Amino acid sequence: MNNRLYGNLIFELSKTGRKGYSLPQCDATHSTAELPETLRRKDDAPLPECDELTVVRHYTNLSHNNFGVNDGFYPLGSCTMKYNPVINEEIAALKAFADLHPLQPAETCQPALMLYHNLQQALAELTGLSEFTLNPCAGAHGELTGLMIIRAYHESRGDTRRTKVLIPDSAHGTNPASAAVCGLEVVEVKSTAEGLVDLEHLHALVEEHGPEIAAIMMTNPNTLGIFEKDIPLIAKEIHGCGAMMYYDGANLNPMLGVVRPGDMGFDVMHINLHKTFSTPHGGGGPGSGPVGVRKGLEDFLPTPRVVYYQAEDLYEVETDSQDQSLGSIGSFFGNFGVMLKAYAYILSLGNENIKMVGPLATLNANYIKESLKDVYELPIEGLCKHEFVFDGLRDKSTGVTTMDIAKRLLDYGYHAPTIYFPLLFHEAMMIEPTESESKETIDEFIKVMRTIAQEAKEQPDMVKSAPHNTPIGRVDDVLAAKHPILTYQQLINDKN
Ligand SMILES: *Cc1c(COP(=O)(O)O)cnc(C)c1O
Repeated sequence: MNNRLYGNLIFELSKTGRKGYSLPQCDATHSTAELPETLRRKDDAPLPECDELTVVRHYTNLSHNNFGVNDGFYPLGSCTMKYNPVINEEIAALKAFADLHPLQPAETCQPALMLYHNLQQALAELTGLSEFTLNPCAGAHGELTGLMIIRAYHESRGDTRRTKVLIPDSAHGTNPASAAVCGLEVVEVKSTAEGLVDLEHLHALVEEHGPEIAAIMMTNPNTLGIFEKDIPLIAKEIHGCGAMMYYDGANLNPMLGVVRPGDMGFDVMHINLHKTFSTPHGGGGPGSGPVGVRKGLEDFLPTPRVVYYQAEDLYEVETDSQDQSLGSIGSFFGNFGVMLKAYAYILSLGNENIKMVGPLATLNANYIKESLKDVYELPIEGLCKHEFVFDGLRDKSTGVTTMDIAKRLLDYGYHAPTIYFPLLFHEAMMIEPTESESKETIDEFIKVMRTIAQEAKEQPDMVKSAPHNTPIGRVDDVLAAKHPILTYQQLINDKN
């Protein structure tokens, strides 16, 4: 690829007067709509002027600088990035769905409302909960919605003192963030050396804060990939003090069709359709974070809701809030395209095959873990679920860090695992292969990871200065995060 010729920015390629289109003479008689003076532009918009080939090559080359799940193995832990069947993309892009308008009357889009309603039902069935809303547009949005439901429930009973949320120290960062946005106070629960919720610490916290606890937020398997086997005890403790069990189901793949959060005693949960159900997450693309509740909490769900009236065989959109409903929490219905993909995925697997998702994800993760633990440090031994954590190389004398290994993986054409999360280990490297990778792909990854461990011994400086084969080398990620330059103001100003 030749990035230099095609420039870093399309503005740099602009030549005044050059065009990539040719339009016929306009023959409309009323071609000049009269806009009010205040709305009219004084100057031409500062747009780049390029021929078509330049534009096509520029964007094609830029796309080659990216790495997606369609480019190669993407073992990012805690954020399921599995293969997404192309047919689901095609279904979601069908004109009949893509051209729907959220304000069109329900009688004109009955089949779409049926799919929407069926997905709500399917998620309830898969999770053992009573009812789902599909309105939230991300996992964090779902967490906030779920916590608002919990708060509304407590308040509806006149129990206004419950302002604390227990969150294990291994939790995903959005959990404490959502609690804070909801106006609740976070109380951290410690993990044991085995990576599980510390029951003694939990008990002490319940003793101390009992009547002030709104809920506990849990991920199971937790973000270390370990199944919290003491859930019944935790549920007893939490329900015993009048609080609720919240389940973070962002990555539901290890559990699908095997265990249901509703059966484990959870009251409220969210799912990331854009992780577990056939939409790649990340890059700011559309997401969907449905929230489910157990029996008795349905009235708190937000609107709009799609309701089925069997007698008339009619799907209706209900927007007028029940007394207790949260009302609207976003625009319209959420991201319908993501829901279509999820529904197609669930139907295409079916009841029999969806049970295979969890065991395969678990088998793949354990296979990698066992194949590499002689060279990478495994802080928590034993069976993992869909993901696991290494604490850097076993041989610490090389000075090669998890960051260096992640960068070196890019040279070999792999996306890096999640690194430096969870915060429980200094050199955390969290690997999740997912259920959808072949044995050959996984074996190749294991081979590369072993090669890098060898390189760390023999040529540590080469690994420490990786990546060597990517268009851009090491970036200053602190600077990139703290001072991102997202516009190209200078050139635009120059043009003006
Ligand atoms: C990704 C993730 C979230 C947050 O989901 P977003 O859609 O990114 O807001 C929450 N919890 C866990 C465990 C996750 O992996």
